[in-house]
Amino acid sequence: MTNITHSFPDSSPRLVVLGGGESGVGAAILAQRKGLHVFLSDSGTLKNEARELLEEYKIPYEEGRHSEAIILAAGEVIKSPGIPDSAPVVRKLRAQGTPVISEMEFAGRYCNAKKICITGSNGKTTTTSIIYFLLRNAGLNVGLAGNIGKSYAYQVATENYDYYVLELSSFQLEGMHEFKADIAVLLNITPDHLDRYDYSLENYARAKFRITQNMSKDDCFIFCSDDEITMSHLNKIVLQAQLLPFSQTTKVAQGAYAADERLYAQYREAKFSILIEELALQGKHNIYNSMAAAVAGQALNVRNEVIRESLTTFRGVEHRLEPVLKVRDVLYINDSKATNVNSAWYALESMRTGVIWIAGGIDKGNDYTDLYELVRQKVKGMICLGADNDKLHRSFADKVPVMLDAQSMVEAVNVAYRLAEPGDAVLLSPACASFDLFENYEDRGRQFKEAVRTL
Ligand code: ADP
Repeated sequence: MTNITHSFPDSSPRLVVLGGGESGVGAAILAQRKGLHVFLSDSGTLKNEARELLEEYKIPYEEGRHSEAIILAAGEVIKSPGIPDSAPVVRKLRAQGTPVISEMEFAGRYCNAKKICITGSNGKTTTTSIIYFLLRNAGLNVGLAGNIGKSYAYQVATENYDYYVLELSSFQLEGMHEFKADIAVLLNITPDHLDRYDYSLENYARAKFRITQNMSKDDCFIFCSDDEITMSHLNKIVLQAQLLPFSQTTKVAQGAYAADERLYAQYREAKFSILIEELALQGKHNIYNSMAAAVAGQALNVRNEVIRESLTTFRGVEHRLEPVLKVRDVLYINDSKATNVNSAWYALESMRTGVIWIAGGIDKGNDYTDLYELVRQKVKGMICLGADNDKLHRSFADKVPVMLDAQSMVEAVNVAYRLAEPGDAVLLSPACASFDLFENYEDRGRQFKEAVRTL
């Protein structure tokens, strides 16, 4: 591993950025542009692109180590979401009372744009993308950031948007204190990443609810009133914002609901409705996502025609229930991003045909009970694609007619091809993380698509 320090600062920097990924480099560039004395430190190896940018902007940095003498002397530290609180240098910073914030918090200080922020356990990227699409269709000068594309800080440094649509993970929210969303969307709260929250759902839910902090009565909080965990926390949180629930079970006066096969959305005097079958993204989960987007659009005075056009023409996001190809009348669907049980549940729920289900990978302490009924109803064959398929066998062997193992994507797709009959779907929706056999979920999804295309 490299162990280099470039242009070592002559006096202690006011601001230190920990981590030189997309968000860390963006934060350092913004800081530099605002005239702050900044230093970036990464304990691993930087990508060439990051190194080039830091040099272009003349930002001092180090890689291959964390020089504690410099870091602990900082007035404030921006921590990348990937670095856990348990990292020794972060513990030391906290112990001595140095403020540790996230890139989103930092960039928010320099951003006067209206901020539409989306969080939740599942559906963030999809809903963020729909809202961005909708606001662009409405002709607004809008940027997209968060876990998607270029970092928020980099865009604040280099662009001049009137609106931002921001996807926020709970890790980012944890480092946010003064940041205020103008519109906050909380899609759902289901157990995921609990390992980072001392296995406490309470801590995880509280992190998600941070999206509402600092909101005032002119702001809007859009949330799913069918979500039990959200609802059980709502009354524990002090909230000034207008509450705009969305539900598929209960009619609401303000917000969105489903009835008579239509989606209705109401904000103040504005009323919108659309036939659910006209929505571009199908499936129960996407009805929720579309509801949240419709209400956010209404709260920003977007015209009904634009909302309708956006919800009917949105093209979906790669690796999320992405139709790949029909081969011999069998549709292959890439849902590689389904890395937990809840998202796989929604994928299976949305299937209207017999399913050959490819699942497996790294189990994050999954409880598969919620899937049993859907699997019994819909799954004609199950392919377990993981380094260790033991738990899948124990959970599902008695619930599916056929179960087979595969150790590579090509093998899994070939087995699926043999099992599927015309009219069926082959669904990759793993319910598990990908790191045993793949680099990440994108790699897993791409390998699936490649294997399908060469059938
Ligand atoms: P995130 O960014 O929160 O991980 P994505 O939009 O990338 O969410 O979707 C992740 C997975 O969850 C996909 O498999 C997708 O089909 C599924 N999903 C999308 N929206 C929802 C939702 N509202 N509830 C549950 N699952 C969802």
